[in-house]
Amino acid sequence: MSMISDINSVCTYCGVGCDITAQVQDNKILKIYAQNDGYVSQGKLCIKGKSGFDFVHSPTRIRNCRVKKSFIENNLEALPRELKARAKTLKEFDETYFETPYEFTTSLAAWKLLEIKEKYGRHAFCGMGGARTSCESSYMFQKFVRVAMESPHVDNCARVCHSPSLKGMKTAIGEGAATNPYDDIFQTQNIIVMGSNTTEAHPIVANRIIKAARDKTASLSVIDVRQIQLGKFAQHEMVIPYEANLLVLNMMAYVILSEKLYNNEFIDTRCKEFESYKESILNDEFANPEYMKNIEGYEILSEQIPHVAREYATKKSMFFWGLGITEHLDGSYAVMAIVNLAMMTGNIGKTGAGLMPLRGQNNVQGACDTGCLPYFDPDYKTPKEIGLMTPELIDEMIAGKIKAMYVMGEDIAHIHPNQNKVHNALKNLEVIISNELFMNEITQKADIVFGVKSAYEKVGVYVNAMRRLHLSQPLVEANMPDDWEVLRDIENKITGNFVYENSEDVWNEAKEAVGTRYSGATYHKLSKNRNRGMQWPIAKEDTPILHLEQFRTEDGKGTFYYHQYQLREQIEKLVKKQTFAKNEFYLTTGRTIVHYNNAAQTVQSENLNSKYDKDIVLASIEDKERIGSEHIILKSPYGESGILPVKYVKTIKPNTLFTTFHHAASKVNFLFGDECDELIMTARFKSVKVEVESV
Ligand code: SF4
Repeated sequence: MSMISDINSVCTYCGVGCDITAQVQDNKILKIYAQNDGYVSQGKLCIKGKSGFDFVHSPTRIRNCRVKKSFIENNLEALPRELKARAKTLKEFDETYFETPYEFTTSLAAWKLLEIKEKYGRHAFCGMGGARTSCESSYMFQKFVRVAMESPHVDNCARVCHSPSLKGMKTAIGEGAATNPYDDIFQTQNIIVMGSNTTEAHPIVANRIIKAARDKTASLSVIDVRQIQLGKFAQHEMVIPYEANLLVLNMMAYVILSEKLYNNEFIDTRCKEFESYKESILNDEFANPEYMKNIEGYEILSEQIPHVAREYATKKSMFFWGLGITEHLDGSYAVMAIVNLAMMTGNIGKTGAGLMPLRGQNNVQGACDTGCLPYFDPDYKTPKEIGLMTPELIDEMIAGKIKAMYVMGEDIAHIHPNQNKVHNALKNLEVIISNELFMNEITQKADIVFGVKSAYEKVGVYVNAMRRLHLSQPLVEANMPDDWEVLRDIENKITGNFVYENSEDVWNEAKEAVGTRYSGATYHKLSKNRNRGMQWPIAKEDTPILHLEQFRTEDGKGTFYYHQYQLREQIEKLVKKQTFAKNEFYLTTGRTIVHYNNAAQTVQSENLNSKYDKDIVLASIEDKERIGSEHIILKSPYGESGILPVKYVKTIKPNTLFTTFHHAASKVNFLFGDECDELIMTARFKSVKVEVESV
């Protein structure tokens, strides 16, 4: 038995990006913990970081390459002679797959992709993924799609999460990223958390917020469609109607503007379009908080909103938000409305004041920085050809125009909306190639599967939700390729231009491509700063706070954007005093602490999955009789869920429901249609009208 060694790295789960230390013996992780002086963790990890490492050693890991028997059968005659000969000698893996040698599998993938390109053209290929793996792999992924396959169609899971944060912030202030370090929570006087169930989704950030609220160094306002745990620590807890974000944010602006609480000096020197914006808000029929008196059950908001707005305007404040803001029809506009509040009060560009979108996946910031978006090359440059966003790609699949898809750590057959449509679209593809750790929903549909290293088995850079670059190192060794290696080896059989020996080679190219954000971040510098990490832009030093002197726009000014709230759905019903049918409810979705999104890794961790092995619906105790069952099926015009258990609670309002969506069998994402953010196509996951069927 070898000695136990302690290895420092970064947690693989959420965008908080906690530093971790693993105790490892005989190539096995025994324990993961945080050092007391951990810069992000502050000595504590949530249950995922602490206990969710057993997936690494799971017997169900994909540790080989697999090719569907049906794929070989359908393509056998067309294969070139050498591949055809080898295809006849493949070893069976199970009923569906052959287990295939790596070299054969990369050759097969290259042949098929070239065949598709020649037959249907370069636009018949798309790539999705990159937010769960390292920057090296996400950079390589977009390069593979754009350069090797010459297709503009690359996207990542930001499409279903924080794309509206990028859009809203970039449009107004030139940069779509968190402005301050998490520790500024201890430097601020006031915190607003809106649309973020932080204790479940970003627990180690929540720890800081709770400490600041308990120690009374900052006042706290929590705004959500239901009562959440963080609300217990808040001075102001506002439960708002579904789809009311923009309404509430414009009301806050109205209070600040009408009471003249805005910061004239900041506005004059750093912003533009204020006067027309102010005029629009003050004349907006929905912006006066008095309007809330028309919304039955939510009248109290007409008193609460002015309090929250005044505190925000008169104190040094930070604004945190999550998918409760972005996953709506007006997600991007709501983000712009948050930026408006920060600019009019000068709550940006200094210690203890800023804008904090809480990014979801461990490397979604890095995937966007490195160009895994159809409208941005690395460094957010405009690409020579703009590709399609995921929902548009699904339509193109249905139209028979997209024929091949490469997915890298992105379960499009689970986490995207309108799953009946997605499943039909996928049937039209001639080939799906997947790099994955486990056989999840999309991988089961893949024709060619590459088992790849997990984040705990490789070197790579991850960028957390506060722009912090962390160089990971392997906790254990694994005899599988990294994502980028698979892409390199396939490309080498297409054109042979990808010459990289190791991940540092890829990084050295990627960091230059991402420009001043990453260019000073050598592996050497990042490894010297492994504990603290470094926040981009990184030149000689890093940049903890953005927008200090000017905004990152062409002229350095921030721009106010006005958008009026559009009356719709639950609020319209309540305002017009329409009654709800017995089985009519509005559903919202969110996460639980033990799982991560589609639960790709967490469901494979016995430590975690045993604590939440099925999705649960929360309903109001006042609706118990009306629903009349402990188990329900949810239905919408797009599809229906599996059978879900219901828990009746006091923390959710009548006529509304909440559920998680982690388990594929729950089929929650079958309920959502194509309705999405009107600028950036992020699905409206936070509100869908459903019928409840008791079972
Ligand atoms: S908060 Fe996020 S990064 Fe930190 S331990 Fe938990 S899952 Fe990992």
